[in-house]
Amino acid sequence: MKERDFIMHVNHRPPITIVRGQGSELWDDTGRRYLDMVQGWAVNGLGHAPEVVHRVLCEQSRQLLTASPAFNTEVQRKAARAVADATRMDRVFFATSGAEANEGAIKLARKYGALHRDGAYEIITLRNGFHGRTLTTMAASGKAGWQRLFPPQPEGFVHAEPNDFATVVAAVNERTVAVLLELVQGEAGVVPLSNGFVQEVARLCRERGLLLMIDEIQTGSGRTGSFVASERYGIAPDVVTLGKGLGAGIAVSALVSTERVSCFEPGEQGGTFAGAALACAVVSEVVSILSDPEFLRQVSERGDYLKRRLQGLGLGDARGLGLLLALQVEGDAELVAQRALEKGLLLNAPNKQTLRFMPALNIAFEEIDEAVSLLERAL
Ligand SMILES: *Cc1c(COP(=O)(O)O)cnc(C)c1O
Repeated sequence: MKERDFIMHVNHRPPITIVRGQGSELWDDTGRRYLDMVQGWAVNGLGHAPEVVHRVLCEQSRQLLTASPAFNTEVQRKAARAVADATRMDRVFFATSGAEANEGAIKLARKYGALHRDGAYEIITLRNGFHGRTLTTMAASGKAGWQRLFPPQPEGFVHAEPNDFATVVAAVNERTVAVLLELVQGEAGVVPLSNGFVQEVARLCRERGLLLMIDEIQTGSGRTGSFVASERYGIAPDVVTLGKGLGAGIAVSALVSTERVSCFEPGEQGGTFAGAALACAVVSEVVSILSDPEFLRQVSERGDYLKRRLQGLGLGDARGLGLLLALQVEGDAELVAQRALEKGLLLNAPNKQTLRFMPALNIAFEEIDEAVSLLERAL
């Protein structure tokens, strides 16, 4: 008899049950091994069950789990400094999910608009962009079909076309306060914005006094070979959001801004677990590893190698930055992902033609080779 399922059915899951992970490997309840190119959805930058996170969790859980956001803690100060240094920004608000960090960014922009821009509140986002699954971040996202879900939808977002600067210019009016975008549109299928487009948007923001807000939830925390992808594009945003890889597997996110834009007053932003000691202890340690130039150089090296190997399959274009990569396939990418799973390789297909690769940032070259040969067999 089939076991009763108590979990809400919110996505299609393959019929395997994961019990354990180590580095780039996962095992299911039958003892079968998988090579993991999903890594918690670009979350486990240091792979599964990294020793450093285990150690910090043990040490910090003996000291203090949380003191409530109403009190100062040394661990939160230290984590905020680490994130501010790594992003070259000034102020940090810790939250628990990416959507919550983006929701905070949207609130911050509206507050800034109320204070400095005559009540401007509109935020320009991009078609196919993804910013989260709260009502407001769904409205900010440009995912096809989402505008019809769960009405009524929060207002205040205007969608422009990625890599089409004229549509951004056309979207600006006296109500506009900010532009919010991903530099590589992850959920859209790993679509990098062109450098020229990003430079033009950055210049427009400067000239018109708009806030430049970059959603680095997927591209940040070392994923593209620099701590934030903004660095690779040579831009200096006013607001950055981090999540996914920030805690190397622990649920934590951050809203980061410059001093000038940090305009919340007490009572306007918060959360019970905001800046909790356990998560902050992990963030300090993880960010110091993920922002190390030698570590980041190795991410780029591994990214280049994987991209070359994927390109070498002769199927189609491999695209992306660092270790956020995609391969365009002919035929059904979802079917390929399913076949790959049967061969022992975990892959994600963000759409019908695309396979996405978001492995551990410290994946071994031999593991990349193994993944590519498993993929070849699946194809
Ligand atoms: C995953 C993701 C989010 C949402 O993060 P959650 O932790 O799922 O709320 C937002 N923006 C981008 C670019 C993401 O990849």
